[in-house]
Amino acid sequence: MRTVYVNGEYIAEDQAKVSIFDRGFLMGDGIYEVTSVLDGKLIDFEGHAIRLQRSMSELDMQSPIEMDDLLEVHRELVRLNGVDEGMIYLQITRGAPDDRDFVYPDPETTKPTIVLFTQNKPGLADSPMSKTGMKVISIADQRWARRDIKTVQLLYPSMAKMAAKAAGKDDAWMVEDGAVTEGSSNNAYIVKGNTIITRHLGNEILHGITRAAVLRFAREAQMNVEERSFTIEEAQKADEAFITSASTFVMPVVEIDDAPIGAGTPGPVVARLREIYLEEMRKAAI
Ligand code: PMP
Repeated sequence: MRTVYVNGEYIAEDQAKVSIFDRGFLMGDGIYEVTSVLDGKLIDFEGHAIRLQRSMSELDMQSPIEMDDLLEVHRELVRLNGVDEGMIYLQITRGAPDDRDFVYPDPETTKPTIVLFTQNKPGLADSPMSKTGMKVISIADQRWARRDIKTVQLLYPSMAKMAAKAAGKDDAWMVEDGAVTEGSSNNAYIVKGNTIITRHLGNEILHGITRAAVLRFAREAQMNVEERSFTIEEAQKADEAFITSASTFVMPVVEIDDAPIGAGTPGPVVARLREIYLEEMRKAAI
């Protein structure tokens, strides 16, 4: 049984409670972060904490916790649950007023709800999929227009993953106005020669914390980085393709809509990027 954190308390998961009037539950009025744990340490905590603050500020949400204290909560949960490899899920909602109403409640009387729990995933870094690669389908991007805010409104990404599953594939890349935005829960990339291509930042995609680190490492390794849109057709003709996210790190994509990418097996550029990412992030973990 896990120990979880709810509004200042560490309690057993089966004792944890949130009100039925919570706006996260009723309205999807909440944001989240997922931070990976390797060797019992947090990967890129600062990046996630900064994006969390930005998500709250874009939604006029008050922070229920100081960032230093948030780091301690993450560490305490890792310790209490003995996590060596896995993730910490954090969610903050606008809290639970005493009735349902579209209008935001007064932050003086309704405090945000904060919940954190751990997910133990032994073998996260040594995942079999990093050797075989994943197969993706394309699907229309039907999410709302503020995808740069990491909200808990994950119904469309769930539908996209179900469509991939129904097709016997691993994930979906979403397409808007003819261009790939991102994966259902990750950023999408293609590789051509020594160049890494990934969509530019904007409101259309989540500003991945892993994305920022991987692009930095790619530039340091003398690779070219182009931040621009690309189509499914261009991706299918690329040498390699991959995704990034906090929980998958760098993961090769070997097929898009039934077309093999390159040789149809994970390529050397993606393998190298994954290796550099894991090595550097383990060094910097806290
Ligand atoms: N895009 C979307 C839509 C996501 O859900 C995620 C993962 N939460 C990402 C990109 C990757 O972001 P990060 O590297 O910060 O996990």
